[in-house]
Amino acid sequence: MKHPRRLVAAVTTLAIAGAVAVVGVRLQQGAAAPGNSAAAVKAAPPTPTADVAARKQAINKLLSARATAVRRGDLKAFLAAVNTKDAKLAARQRTLFANLRQFGFTRLEYFLADEHQVPRLTEKYGPTAFSSRVMMRYQLAGLDAKPVQTDVAYTFVRRGSGWLLVEDNAIDEVLSYAGHRQPWDYQPITVVRRGKVAVVVAQREAALGAKIAAIAQQAVSGVQRHWPQPWNGSVMVVAMPEPQVLSIFWTVGAGGWTIAAKDLPIYDGEPHGGGAPAGSRIVVNPELRTKLDKDLLAHEMTHAAAVLLGEQAPMWMVEGYAEYVRCAVIEDDPHWTVDPYRKTVRKSLPSMKALPGPAEFGANGDRSYGQAWWTIEYLIDRFGEKKVAALYADLAGHASGADAILKKHTKMTPAQLLAAVKKFRG
Ligand SMILES: [Zn+2]
Repeated sequence: MKHPRRLVAAVTTLAIAGAVAVVGVRLQQGAAAPGNSAAAVKAAPPTPTADVAARKQAINKLLSARATAVRRGDLKAFLAAVNTKDAKLAARQRTLFANLRQFGFTRLEYFLADEHQVPRLTEKYGPTAFSSRVMMRYQLAGLDAKPVQTDVAYTFVRRGSGWLLVEDNAIDEVLSYAGHRQPWDYQPITVVRRGKVAVVVAQREAALGAKIAAIAQQAVSGVQRHWPQPWNGSVMVVAMPEPQVLSIFWTVGAGGWTIAAKDLPIYDGEPHGGGAPAGSRIVVNPELRTKLDKDLLAHEMTHAAAVLLGEQAPMWMVEGYAEYVRCAVIEDDPHWTVDPYRKTVRKSLPSMKALPGPAEFGANGDRSYGQAWWTIEYLIDRFGEKKVAALYADLAGHASGADAILKKHTKMTPAQLLAAVKKFRG
């Protein structure tokens, strides 16, 4: 079938890599507020040290039992320490259990992280009320090569010799930006598995999940054709109606342009990062989840593959390579073209002043994605995919010395590369 010549609309709808980090900082700052205000209100008497240790041990044991219950599919055991007299809490916990059961876990554990006492909860539940951030450390079977962490916030009260979970979202403001915003934390979900791809959708949108899984598999093959570094294609695509899932703000920047999807790194440690990413999740803008195409997923999956190498590569390389793969995947079908995009980018080259970084992306996202793409088009035209991907790997793994790494691989300085890119006609 002959396709019409294609306009590349998706250029305006890709994510800025830095956007999530900004969101994270904002919510982290907000997180301090309840603790500060708490000090001004009537505080509960301090708990004796021995009791603190016993409480920690008892609640960690309770949390372990819940993790075991998920792995074994034992709903009764999962709810054993839940205050089921609170019907809403009980319903949320049942949904959580059913959602978690949609995944297979190679590893799953919960443990207390930071205690966070809240006077209003002490007033509501009495002096034994105990609130804490709880770490969820897990590894999804067939998806995660390593364990990763996220966090939830729970409140417990003493019941006889044990403890009872009475609140599962009362202090969510103390969590990391992605905390309690996992796909399993909302409505009932369906996980559609196809090959190494897992697509998470609302249970009532299972047909959408199947559709996305099919195009996601094509996108995986496309990325594997053009990304010569090792990547096994295991990836989760989350396409749910709730904008809170993984806490992405879907409209950003002065121009208010919309992000269509985002590849969000995940870590084994503090969920907002700091170390090397253990993997990532692709999150689709709820507004655009029914219009998702293979090309956009190819862009995001390039990030999912490359982030395993580290997060230190400059933005022109990160976004440029993802755009390169997206365009290459489109043109792997001879009936499709990105020529209109080429023409637009060529026109922007005379005014190009730098290899695009955060400042350029912030000022003009469309133009910067295009120029980053052109930079990679030039490099691959000259050196081939294998050498450019090797340069990417070297840059991604090193926090400093980017200019020296560029020189080692290309014999060029950034200024020389910029000059060559501006002259390149494609
Ligand atoms: Zn991107």
